Amino acid sequence: MTPLARLIAARIAAEGPVSLSDYMADCLLHPRHGYYATRDPFGAGGDFTTAPEISQMFGELLGLCLAQGWLDQGRPTPFLLAEIGPGRGTLMADMLRAMRAVPGLAAALRVHLIEASPKLRARQRRTLADHPVTWHDRIEDLPEGPLFLVANEFFDALPIRQFRREGHGWRETQVGLSDGRLAPGLGPVSSLLHLDGRLSDTRDGDIVEYCPALAPIAGAMAARIARHGGVALIVDYGGWLSLGDTLQALRNHAPADPFADPGLADLTAHVDFEALAHAFRGAGAAVTAMTPQGVFLERLGLAARAERLARGLSGAALRSHLGAHRRLTHPAEMGQLFKVIACHPAGTPPPPGLDPA
Ligand code: SAH
Repeated sequence: MTPLARLIAARIAAEGPVSLSDYMADCLLHPRHGYYATRDPFGAGGDFTTAPEISQMFGELLGLCLAQGWLDQGRPTPFLLAEIGPGRGTLMADMLRAMRAVPGLAAALRVHLIEASPKLRARQRRTLADHPVTWHDRIEDLPEGPLFLVANEFFDALPIRQFRREGHGWRETQVGLSDGRLAPGLGPVSSLLHLDGRLSDTRDGDIVEYCPALAPIAGAMAARIARHGGVALIVDYGGWLSLGDTLQALRNHAPADPFADPGLADLTAHVDFEALAHAFRGAGAAVTAMTPQGVFLERLGLAARAERLARGLSGAALRSHLGAHRRLTHPAEMGQLFKVIACHPAGTPPPPGLDPA
């Protein structure tokens, strides 16, 4: 058993099963043993790879997408260029480099990062050593002002609750003990107000997931954007309305048992884009259509950028560059599973690459 598994097992022995979201919160962010608190999980030596780590083109295009939003909204100055869950800082570094091409933009922006992990903050500080950066623990701590924000693979890292439908009620997934080991189980049937809407589109035995932190975080972004202007660009894997068990553990780039080694594997779940759209609208912002990542990147001119970069490459470097293009956009890779959605102030154009909802 990992040290974290022993801690959680002792608590369950004393107090009974814990909810899946409490379990995930410990696995990911426990101050001493949590996954993000203790390691840099990215890249070939880590557990998973993200789009900005695959190719610089991802951050460049997202940066230019936000830059166009800034131009369309009349170049508000100064403004906050923010990222929530910035990983190694690679996406922000690529965005900043591409944005230098837009006159006046570099002087207008102030970089703000929202990051829970001290270990990754240190890594971001190294990646962004040439830029003044302010870090925050929570989105609510951002100063007021026009806000241009990205979140790539952030929402999938937030703890979820999971429910299995039974009649007109729901049984919640809990983590308990079986033969002294951590194991999932189901709690008693209860009716849940926030799942009433799902009774019409689910059947007995269906699983629905619900991320309690999603609406407050998405709502806080959208409220600032509705008030002061800006854009929030969200990229993640998932779809429209949660359905099915999407809890996933990854260790050394391979699927793992989510309950086997808490703290040592990354735990994620698919993001419910309907819930994002609902929270954005509820806070008074306009929302774009949900768009597959492959379509979004091609609309932003990925092919032209890829061709330009390919000119300086040959051999293994060229093959790896072409492979990265494919990984980002092909429907069998990240192109279809990953989706993009944005919010912006009502009455302003949606950012490029995205249609109005
Ligand atoms: N956007 C990056 C990293 C994605 S991994 C990339 O594309 O490479 C998720 C990131 O969110 C990590 O930086 C992790 O430390 C951070 N994170 C996870 N939960 C968080 C929370 N509750 N608040 C702030 N940051 C969080």
